[in-house]
Amino acid sequence: MEKVIEGIYFIPGRDEMIPDSHVYILGDAHSHDLSMVDVGLIGRGDEKLDHIERTGIGLKDIKRIILTHTHFDHIGCIKEMVKGLPDVEIWVHQIEGDYLERGDERIIHGNEMFAGFIRGQYGVSDGFYQLSVHRKLGEADVLEIGGLRWEVLHIPGHSAGGIGLYNAKNKVLIPGDTVYADYNIGRFDLYSADGSQLRRSLERLAQLDAEVLLPGHNRILKEGAGESIKKTLAQWKQYLG
Ligand SMILES: [Zn+2]
Ligand SMILES: [Zn+2]
Repeated sequence: MEKVIEGIYFIPGRDEMIPDSHVYILGDAHSHDLSMVDVGLIGRGDEKLDHIERTGIGLKDIKRIILTHTHFDHIGCIKEMVKGLPDVEIWVHQIEGDYLERGDERIIHGNEMFAGFIRGQYGVSDGFYQLSVHRKLGEADVLEIGGLRWEVLHIPGHSAGGIGLYNAKNKVLIPGDTVYADYNIGRFDLYSADGSQLRRSLERLAQLDAEVLLPGHNRILKEGAGESIKKTLAQWKQYLG
């Protein structure tokens, strides 16, 4: 687990045939009020919890899982996490929270081909991800958690209820899969995705005063996030409608 800055830790995903999302742990360790952002691929929960414990963080201090969105590579091991973190809450945007609660897994799978692959490869049966959500997040919510202040940005386009978390004080942006650090963007062909919404979300992120970019996959940026997002938008906007 790498410390990005004080109060923000990074556990890199370890991709298989399907990617495994990065996990971020937010909060001052002394606050006993930590948050886990995304959980990663199915089967990868216990090793992450072991890893967290070995760094000296008490698992009982992890109070909530915040999902940037509910694609399979981000929510996959949530049941392992809930088992290992008995009092943990699940926070997710209203739209995708409603999908989870009614057991509608179309956003999780993204398309029928992935759904078939996931069922076959991981033995996940329909209804596995029907979950109750403790807090449904929305645009402009402010989360004062673990000694840090995060603004919730609803940034649809990659999925309907995708969120970003922005900490203005430290200029940190966690954009999920909306934008990456290597001038790439999230797919916009999956169920509930929308290219023109993604363009508007990228335009919005490009306006933020951001230095640190902590995306769902690939490398992270410790400086230059704003410039990187602007360049990414310039490259991609013609394809986004
Ligand atoms: Zn995604
Ligand atoms: Zn992803």
